[in-house]
Amino acid sequence: MDDAFELLDPRNAQAFLKQFSAEARRKGEACFRRGAVQDVVPEEPGVAYSAVVKDGDHYEVDLEYDPAEGWSGSCSCPLGSDCEHIVAAMRALLAEHSRAAVRSLSTGGPSASASLAAARSRPAASDAGELVRRLLAARKRPLKAEEKKFLGKVRTVYERCCQAGRITHWDFEEMGLRLGGYGWDALQIWPTLPENDYLFWLYVANAAQQRQVQIPEFMQPITDLSAIQNRLARWERERQIQRWKEKLGSLHLPSAPPADGQALTDLRVLVEEKEICLQWLRPGQTTFDTIKHAQLRQFAANY
Ligand SMILES: [Zn+2]
Repeated sequence: MDDAFELLDPRNAQAFLKQFSAEARRKGEACFRRGAVQDVVPEEPGVAYSAVVKDGDHYEVDLEYDPAEGWSGSCSCPLGSDCEHIVAAMRALLAEHSRAAVRSLSTGGPSASASLAAARSRPAASDAGELVRRLLAARKRPLKAEEKKFLGKVRTVYERCCQAGRITHWDFEEMGLRLGGYGWDALQIWPTLPENDYLFWLYVANAAQQRQVQIPEFMQPITDLSAIQNRLARWERERQIQRWKEKLGSLHLPSAPPADGQALTDLRVLVEEKEICLQWLRPGQTTFDTIKHAQLRQFAANY
C-alpha cells in the first residue's frame, strides 16, 4: 500500500460522513460535484489529509484519522466543524481513495486498503480494519511498508477464510507462517469463525505459537492472547466432554434391573490419606465393610 491516497480505514470514513446533518451532506455533495475541492494533500498518507474548498471564500479543511476515535474533520469557515466543506473534502478524499485502490489492484499488489474496499461489498467479513486500528494505536507512528504489506495479507486471508468457513495450511503459508505440513485440510484453531480480523489474528498467532512458529516482531505488542484464552479453554473443555460422551456411548454395559425379591447392594469408595478402598453395604447390614479380594471377584462374576 504505497499509494498516498489509500486510506487505512475507508469504512470508518463512510460512517463519518453519515454523522452529518442531511443538509450538510446535500450541500457538501453539491460542493464536491461542482469541483470545489482543490488540493487534497496527504499530510500523513492513509491517516491525515488537508484540502482547500472553494465555496465563495477559500476554506481549509483538515481530515484526520485516530485509531480509537475514527475520522474527524475541522474547517476554517465560521462554523468550524460539522459543515458542508468537511463533507465535500471527505467525498473528494474517498474518490481519491477509490482510484488509488483500483490502481493498486490493477498493478496486482496486495494492499490493506484494497482488501478493505473489497470487504465492503462482502457481508461475511465484518468490522473491517480492527487489526489496523489496534496496530496504529500501539505504534503511534505511520506504518512501514512491510507492516502494511503483512496486514494486507492477513486481511486477504481472513476474508477468504470467512468465505470458505475454514483455515488451511496454505492460508498460514500465505501469511508467511510455515506450520509444517501442506494442503487444503482445515485446521481446528478456533471454536467459531472469528467475528473480526483482530480476533482472527489472535487465533492464528496462538496456533503458530503452539507449533513454535515465530510471528513478526511488530505484531507482538498487539498480540495479547489472553483475549481468547477463555474462549479456547471453554472450547477445549467442550471437546473433551464430547470425546468422553463418544467413548462412553460406544461402551455396551449390561444393565439389568434387580429382579423381584432381589436386594440391592450399595457400593462406595472411601478415599483416605494413603489409600482408597471400595466398600459395600450388603442387604440386611447397617454399616459399610471393605470388600475383600475374593468377595470382589465373586461380586464381579455375579454382575
Ligand atoms: Zn466549513
